[in-house]
Amino acid sequence: MSDVVIIGGGIVGLACAYECAKAGASVTLLEYGKTGMQATNAAAGMLAPLVEAHEPGPMFDIGAQALAEFPALVAALESQAGFDIELQLDGILKVAFTNDQLHELRERRSRLASAGHQLELLDAAQCHEAEPRISDRIIGALYSPSEGSVSNQLLALALERAAILHGATIQQRAAVTGFRTSRERVTSVRTAEADVACDTVVIAAGARSGQIAAKLPHRPPKTEDRRPPLPVHPIRGQMIALGGMSTPIRSIVWGPDGYLVPRANGIVFAGATVEDVGFRRRTTQAGLQQMRSMANALVPQLAAAKHLFDWAGLRPATPDGLPMIGPVPEWPNVVAATGHYRNGVLLGPITGRLVADGIVHRDWSNVPADFSPSRFS
Ligand SMILES: Cc1cc2nc3c(=O)[nH]c(=O)nc-3n(C[C@H](O)[C@H](O)[C@H](O)COP(=O)(O)OP(=O)(O)OC[C@H]3O[C@@H](n4cnc5c(N)ncnc54)[C@H](O)[C@@H]3O)c2cc1C
Repeated sequence: MSDVVIIGGGIVGLACAYECAKAGASVTLLEYGKTGMQATNAAAGMLAPLVEAHEPGPMFDIGAQALAEFPALVAALESQAGFDIELQLDGILKVAFTNDQLHELRERRSRLASAGHQLELLDAAQCHEAEPRISDRIIGALYSPSEGSVSNQLLALALERAAILHGATIQQRAAVTGFRTSRERVTSVRTAEADVACDTVVIAAGARSGQIAAKLPHRPPKTEDRRPPLPVHPIRGQMIALGGMSTPIRSIVWGPDGYLVPRANGIVFAGATVEDVGFRRRTTQAGLQQMRSMANALVPQLAAAKHLFDWAGLRPATPDGLPMIGPVPEWPNVVAATGHYRNGVLLGPITGRLVADGIVHRDWSNVPADFSPSRFS
């Protein structure tokens, strides 16, 4: 019997495992394959709530808070896990090729300033001073000095190590196939091997979260218009790793059609497509070509870089683009922690903390109402 059973070992499930175990709960995490190998492995690792946000609101607020919490979290995890997680808050350059794009960046800058975040607007000369190899066609940029990236793979691994240190059990290759329920409560989570009894279950299965939630029995039985309790759908993203040249950029360069993320080992990640193609998780020639052209347009020298490897992942998306964090309607001991779409690396750790507060301390007050799974019921 576990206090908390978590379904899914991506960054969100691992963060929930770490925070719940740290708060004193007994935790079992069940992972279909190998932890951290789905969307979490596919991500670019950017921590970019300021340059990514379109409007002020709960998504912006939680993103800014998550970013602010990263240095302390990473320091704590590094000391527990014993390795460097490659947190690099070296700044992001969001560039414009046209006057319209520059105008949009100016507006974004004033919106951010009114929320208390001072970003700098650079002209073409200042852009080239900051990043000498970017295209001559770039006419200006918004520079955000406090954002950056982390190794998403190492962060996931560190969360897993730290969760285990706090007593969590992580089961790999433990595909969840269903639930045992009694009235409105889940009493155990089923895998092919065993039933794992629990007080509370957390659905953190990324793009598959809706499919898992659909295994909860219908209540009331089989109404005609019953919507899935967690409407999560996959949105594919394809990326390329470019290398073979001395570090062409120092900080993240983000253009209108994609971004370039320099990693600590000198490789540059170019991404990412945004495609609604169901659960097809393979790369395509068209998608990779699109990313290659985007990279060359931002930094022409990258045309000579080697295409080292490529990959695709499925972002867990929701109908309104906001995550779902909190109890699932009609199932008081089932908690959703999913739907983080393009921001799961940034928001995974803070989600873990909010879920632990909710489950262990029975305090959901810090979760914005807009993130409640009940908004779709
Ligand atoms: C190309 C790309 C680039 C991205 N870049 C960024 C970025 O720069 N910054 C950022 O913040 N975010 C980024 N994201 C988004 C981020 O990767 C996701 O939001 C995040 O990884 C979601 O984490 P998760 O734990 O919810 O899902 P996942 O990492 O997909 O984990 C879900 C886990 O659940 C498991 N599972 C599924 N079904 C079952 C089952 N039946 N039983 C047990 N386990 C099951 C899966 O095997 C998987 O391991 C990017 C995503 C993509 C695809």
